[in-house]
Amino acid sequence: MQCFHCGREVRETTHTQKGYRVDYYLLHTGRTEWAFLKDPKEDGATLHYLKLQDPIDIVSCADCYANPQIRQRLEQDFNGSASILNGEGVKAAEKNTSPQPDHG
Ligand SMILES: [Zn+2]
Repeated sequence: MQCFHCGREVRETTHTQKGYRVDYYLLHTGRTEWAFLKDPKEDGATLHYLKLQDPIDIVSCADCYANPQIRQRLEQDFNGSASILNGEGVKAAEKNTSPQPDHG
């Protein structure tokens, strides 16, 4: 399994004498869309709910999970305000591409 954010390989949870070490977190999510359910009664309320389209498990490595930006994205997805799948993608492990000084 790979981290959804930075792509690194994550390890299974390892158990130690003191407890366990978690290397990744799993968010069960998917693409959602609003669905409407009309109450057949004449003045019944229209219910709307988020329908899960394609269930996806988002793997977040422990490093990315520690990143507040990513945590926020996960929380937004979890509470339905913004799907993590629709974003530009948080570049947690963006490489520092500033030019290196020329040693020569
Ligand atoms: Zn990661």
